[in-house]
Amino acid sequence: MTYPRKHLLAIEGLEPPHIADLLDLAESYALLNRSGKTQRDLLKGRTLINLFFEDSTRTRTSFELAGKRLGADVINMSVSTSSVNKGETLLDTASTLNAMHCDLLVVRHGQSGAPSLLSQKVDAAVINAGDGTHEHPTQALLDALTIRRHKGRLEGLIVAICGDIAHSRVARSNMHLLTTMGSRVRVVGPPTLIPAEAARLGVEVFHDMKAGLAGADVVMMLRLQRERMSGGMVPSAREFFRFYGLDAEKLAYAKPDSIVMHPGPMNRGVEIDSAVADHPTRSVIGEQVEMGVACRMAVLDVLARGLRRNV
Ligand code: ASP
Repeated sequence: MTYPRKHLLAIEGLEPPHIADLLDLAESYALLNRSGKTQRDLLKGRTLINLFFEDSTRTRTSFELAGKRLGADVINMSVSTSSVNKGETLLDTASTLNAMHCDLLVVRHGQSGAPSLLSQKVDAAVINAGDGTHEHPTQALLDALTIRRHKGRLEGLIVAICGDIAHSRVARSNMHLLTTMGSRVRVVGPPTLIPAEAARLGVEVFHDMKAGLAGADVVMMLRLQRERMSGGMVPSAREFFRFYGLDAEKLAYAKPDSIVMHPGPMNRGVEIDSAVADHPTRSVIGEQVEMGVACRMAVLDVLARGLRRNV
């Protein structure tokens, strides 16, 4: 295992062997989970704290399950950011966590960079579970694992990431991971929802679904993140669906064996039609959730090995 860091704060900066090793380990955890077995001695005596400053269903449950399957003591903390200055709260929280001897800290925060700031103040290994519009590294890992299981590889695949790219930490982590692993990444959406940095990240930009989906192996849909938008960046939901919502007609532009992905939560009828989201063979949305647990087990395992080294 070649993972070089104490924390997992971003995909950016990881090299192909680091990503490939994490995915291989996650694959072994996916098989273990399907067999119904656990490895409860691996993180025995370790404390994992889930510190979520933003709502989450999938990610928090998934980290909780991953920690428990490896034998860690798991504590969930939800923090309201409404009352206090965020800088002070984070630093106060950091000293509280140090006093509790937390080993693994999973952080979600509305501000980009918050997990990185915390990682400088706590003794624990920190995992970014989504920070602002910056990154959501374990989501990109689980997406890559799901793709690899269906397509056998990442290299050379055409992956179309569609919708609200600008506000999506999922898109950003995926762009870094997939381009690093040799996929051909396209981002597809209205000009207002494509970030200026897209070209720098080595992805192709499309404003038309037909052109963007043509010949794609993977179609990844993203939620319209209205809570992060200032002002009207998109027309009505109905209008958005007409041009950018994935339905059977638009999916027909992609390869006949292409897979459909979505990180959740889905806005049915806005970015994706139910017939596609629930398609029995093309949709892998349920498998993404399953792979989420396996990837988080792999990340916890690898970071805990690092903690052992640092003792
Ligand atoms: N669940 C993902 C995230 O936290 C995607 C989303 O919220 O749309 O970024």
